[in-house]
Amino acid sequence: MATTPLQAVKGMNDLLPSESPVWQFFESKVVEVLHSYGYQEIRFPILEKTELFQRGIGEVTDIVEKEMYTFVDKGGDSLTMRPEGTASCVRACEENRLLFDRANLVQKLWYTGPMFRHERPQKGRLRQFHQIGVEVFGLQGPDIDAELLLMTARLWQELGIDDAVALQINTLGTPQSRADYRQALVAFLNQHRTELDEDSQRRIDRNPLRVLDSKDPKTQAVLDNAPTLFDHLDEESREHFDQLKSILDAMNIPYTVNPRLVRGLDYYGKTVFEWVTTQLGAQGTVCAGGRYDGLVEELGGKPTPGVGFAMGIERLILLLTELNVVPEDIFASADVYLLVAGDVLNDAFAVAEQIRSDLPYLRVQMHCGGGSFKSQMKKADKSGADIALILGEDELKEGVISVKYLREEKPQHTVKLNELINILS
Ligand code: ATP
Ligand code: MG
Repeated sequence: MATTPLQAVKGMNDLLPSESPVWQFFESKVVEVLHSYGYQEIRFPILEKTELFQRGIGEVTDIVEKEMYTFVDKGGDSLTMRPEGTASCVRACEENRLLFDRANLVQKLWYTGPMFRHERPQKGRLRQFHQIGVEVFGLQGPDIDAELLLMTARLWQELGIDDAVALQINTLGTPQSRADYRQALVAFLNQHRTELDEDSQRRIDRNPLRVLDSKDPKTQAVLDNAPTLFDHLDEESREHFDQLKSILDAMNIPYTVNPRLVRGLDYYGKTVFEWVTTQLGAQGTVCAGGRYDGLVEELGGKPTPGVGFAMGIERLILLLTELNVVPEDIFASADVYLLVAGDVLNDAFAVAEQIRSDLPYLRVQMHCGGGSFKSQMKKADKSGADIALILGEDELKEGVISVKYLREEKPQHTVKLNELINILS
């Protein structure tokens, strides 16, 4: 009896061997850059108590209102699959007393892993997606905001996508200046209520700053005349923002100030930023973040300034692929492919093991499964290896091995087994 084949959950993708080299290439570049700035990895669970995200992200956000994967477990607790990393990171730091005493008040952390949001799947928007995030605790000045932007700018350069992404920055001020602005904005939006899209109308009372985020062209047109937060900005935030801009200027990091840039999450204040590309359609934000000085306290810790960002790995992988900047050689699964011709299996194993011992950085694939010389040769070629080694009974008798160059016009030759390592290295 035929059964229906099983399928993955909608919006949750498999990562296939043909794609994983690009992810590994990307992830290793990111980790290299993060480590070169002295950031350290932290790992926390995928499941947390629902309350953490309700308090940490804010009730009146898209994420908490409609995107979370929440369920009651067998013990009766309401748990949620993390939709982002910042709240979990704060929880982990607090619980493990990483922000406890003067000696470790400053933390520069990074994390990576899957995040879950129940959204409408489309290009660059998934239900299980992956982020690399960075959070810094204990530093309140604009210098650390600037460092995060320098670090991401360097990363784009390392990846070869710096021409395709642009930096937008804004400041959201202190909670007080935001409250003042909120009043002015709500008054303005109420005057234009009927000209706004439905979502925006709903947001006026609940989360008016999010209206600035609307993608609706008619709403956008109304917003052209809306008051901006700059008119209500407090002195301290203004100075913070000016200093940040002057560091970026001095370090030649181009940016535009976008007064409509507000982050979706409640806890941001002062600096916010996004790196945006025009090459991926509507899902153009590849990295987003900002300052969240109130969050640690909100989650029960001592007042501790924080700033961070998260990049969407899927979107960056799409961009790398679109721009064709991924090196060809990452797709090879081997550097050396060993063919086994005739009754020499044990000796072939010994040769392969010897190479792996002496040259551990080489990827050595030994042919398993038998087959004709021709079919083995095809597999060698497909593996992407530069060199095929051929061990047959004749070779064995003479204590040699044949070396065939798969990507170069060089004649095949034999070498003594005890000289093989020299050739390969
Ligand atoms: P968007 O406006 O695109 O919904 P967001 O403001 O909800 O983004 P953040 O919570 O700031 O996104 O997450 C940081 C980054 O993670 C985004 O800039 C994006 O690159 C990526 N990201 C967010 N949601 C998704 C998703 N559903 N699928 C793929 N990537 C995502
Ligand atoms: Mg979103």
